Formats: sequence, C-alpha cells, structure tokens
Amino acid sequence: MVSLNYTLKNSEGELIDSTEGKEPLVYLHGVGGMIPGLETGLEGQEAGANFKVIVSPNDGFGARNEDLIHIVPKSGFQGDEEMQIGMQVQLQTEQGMTIATITEIEGEDVTLDMNHPLSGVELHFDVNILELRSATDEEIAHGHVHGPGGHHH
Ligand code: ZN
Repeated sequence: MVSLNYTLKNSEGELIDSTEGKEPLVYLHGVGGMIPGLETGLEGQEAGANFKVIVSPNDGFGARNEDLIHIVPKSGFQGDEEMQIGMQVQLQTEQGMTIATITEIEGEDVTLDMNHPLSGVELHFDVNILELRSATDEEIAHGHVHGPGGHHH
C-alpha cells in the first residue's frame, strides 16, 4: 500500500494535476491500478522519498490515435447546451461509454477527439511518498486499498 502526494506537469512545465490541497493518492502497488510508467518509477522507493518520474506517453496514457478522431453532424447532439471547443461530451459506442473532446466546430461539422486528454503527453511527476505498508490479504484479494483514503471500510 502506497500513499503519496504528487504534482503532474507536461514537458512544457504546465500544471496538469496535483494532490496539493487534496487527499493523498493511495494505491496498491503491483495490481495494475496505476499508470505503468509511474508504478515502475516508484519501484524500490521508501517512505519520505522525494523524486521525479518522467513517463513517456507509451507508459502513460498511450500515443494519440488519429483513428479516434471523428467528424459528426451537429444535429446528432441532443441537449440545449451550447457546444464549445474544448468541451467534453459523453458518447455511447460499441465499447461502452466514452468521453470525447470537441476539438473543432465548423458549420454543421463537429470534430470529436476520443483520445484520452493526456494521450501523447509526456508526464512529469514530482512525487513525495508519505507512507508504505504491506497490503493485507483482503486488500490483495480486492485489488484496492482499505482504510483511510482507500475504498470501503
Ligand atoms: Zn475491498
């Protein structure tokens, strides 16, 4: 069980996400619940450690896939919310619900990008490990952390 604080930036140094002012991130090491590149970077670290991990897109949220960009007619959208570039919409696909970002609106054509917003982005993590402990058998069986910051109690 790992509990950590992190700050995530892109390669331009722009802030993407941070646990600052929030609860620390808790996760179970080795069950695949974490971005692979970050999990590898945490290997062998100890409580109290401060370090940086740089994760390439392939070990993060994947490379961008041009096949996941679609142009659809505006009329296919329901709801009265004004569509704007950068807006995220939920879509029903054959693989289930997915989130797409509107990247272009031209006349009746709306360009939807179903890539993860962080796909193709090199992830720069600043990590501070707060706590490490062995997972309980129950946590291992469930594949997630119990107790403070974890799932059900
Ligand atoms: Zn559980």
